[in-house]
Amino acid sequence: MRKEISQMEAWFGEEEAEAVSEYLKGNLKGRAWNAEFEKAISDTTGAPYAVSSLNGTVTLIQALLALEIKAGDEVLVPNSTMIATPNACVVLGIKPVLVDIEPETLCLDLAKAEEALTTKTRAMMYVPLNGRSGNMDEVVAFCKKHNLFLIEDAAQALGSYFKGKRLFKKHLGTFGDIGSFSFSLFKIISTTQGGALVTASEKLYEKIKLLKDFGRTGKGSDIHDYFGLNFKMSGVLSLIGVEQFKKLSGRMKRKKEMFARIRDGLKDLPIEFIKTDLSVTTPWFMDIFVDDPNALAAHLKKAGIETRFFYPPIHTQEIYKKDCAGRSFPVSERAAARGLWLPSSSQLTDEEIDYIIKSIKTFYGVRT
Ligand SMILES: *Cc1c(COP(=O)(O)O)cnc(C)c1O
Repeated sequence: MRKEISQMEAWFGEEEAEAVSEYLKGNLKGRAWNAEFEKAISDTTGAPYAVSSLNGTVTLIQALLALEIKAGDEVLVPNSTMIATPNACVVLGIKPVLVDIEPETLCLDLAKAEEALTTKTRAMMYVPLNGRSGNMDEVVAFCKKHNLFLIEDAAQALGSYFKGKRLFKKHLGTFGDIGSFSFSLFKIISTTQGGALVTASEKLYEKIKLLKDFGRTGKGSDIHDYFGLNFKMSGVLSLIGVEQFKKLSGRMKRKKEMFARIRDGLKDLPIEFIKTDLSVTTPWFMDIFVDDPNALAAHLKKAGIETRFFYPPIHTQEIYKKDCAGRSFPVSERAAARGLWLPSSSQLTDEEIDYIIKSIKTFYGVRT
C-alpha cells in the first residue's frame, strides 16, 4: 500500500540539523545570524533592506506601525486571503475594508478598490496570492494617485515576480513601501516559524529596527528613546533560514515542474486553471477550480490523497460577518465555491503526481 499523500509537508535536512546543533553548542549569536539571513532575503528579492521577524502575521502589524497607520484609519484588504491580513489591521484598531478580487489573478480588484475608498483610507494591503499578481504597475499607480501606502503581503510569493511592459521582472513584495514574507512550516522555505519585512526606504528600515528592539538606539540596554517591542527572530531560526535559502531555487524549479505536469495531465477535463506564467510565477499551491470540490476532495481522500479548500471569503468568517451584512463579493465567493488545492509539497515525486492525476481522471470517469 502506498502511504498517504499529504497536502503539504515541511522539508528540513541534515544541513539544518547541523546548523541547529552548532547554535546550541554555544555559537549563540543573534544579530550576526539575523544579518546573514536578511542578506539572503535581500539577495533573492532585490530589496535594499530586509529585517527578520517572528512570523508573517507580526510583520504585517510591524508594517502598519512603521507607517503610523492608526486606530480608526482604513486599509483596503482583498476578500480572499489568509486571515492574518485583515486580522493584523484589527489588532491595532484599524478597519480592514474588504475588496473583491479579480477573476484572472484572484488578487485585489482595483476597480472595486476605487469604490471602497473613503477619506479615512490610508493604505492598501495587496496580496499576490499563490505567487500570482495583477498588474503591479497599475497597483503602484493607484496607490500613488490616491495617496495610499502600499503594503504587500507577499507571504505566498517568495520566488515569484511581476514582469511589466518594461520587460524586466521584479520580485513581488518589492513594489510597495513595505513587503512582508512568512517562513512558517509549509511555506516554500521555512524557519519553522518566521517572517521578514523588506523595504527600499532607509527611513522605514531604521524605524522597523527600532520597533523590533524596544526602541533602543545604542545608548544603552535600558535607554529607550522610541517606542518598541520585541520582534526579534531567534538566531537559531536565522541559521535554519540561511540553509533553507540555499534550497530555494531547487524548490522553485520543482514547484513549476509540478504545476506544469498537473496542468498538462488534466488538460482535457472540466477543470479550470488560473492563467500562470511559469517564467515569473512559482505556484506555492497546486490550485484547481472545479464544479464540485467537495465531491472531488472526498474521492481523493479515499485514494489516500489529502487536499485543502480555497480560502473562504473573509466576509463569511464569523468575526467579520457582522460588518459585512448585505454585501456581496461574487468573485471571491465563486473562487471559494470551486477552488481546491492538490498536494503541493516540493518533495512529491513524479510518480506521486501521476497517481494524483490518475485519481482525478477516475473521478471524471476517464479510463486510464
Ligand atoms: C502564511 C501567510 C500569512 C501568515 O504568516 P505566518 O508566518 O503564518 O504568521 C499571512 N498572509 C498570507 C497571505 C499567508 O499565506
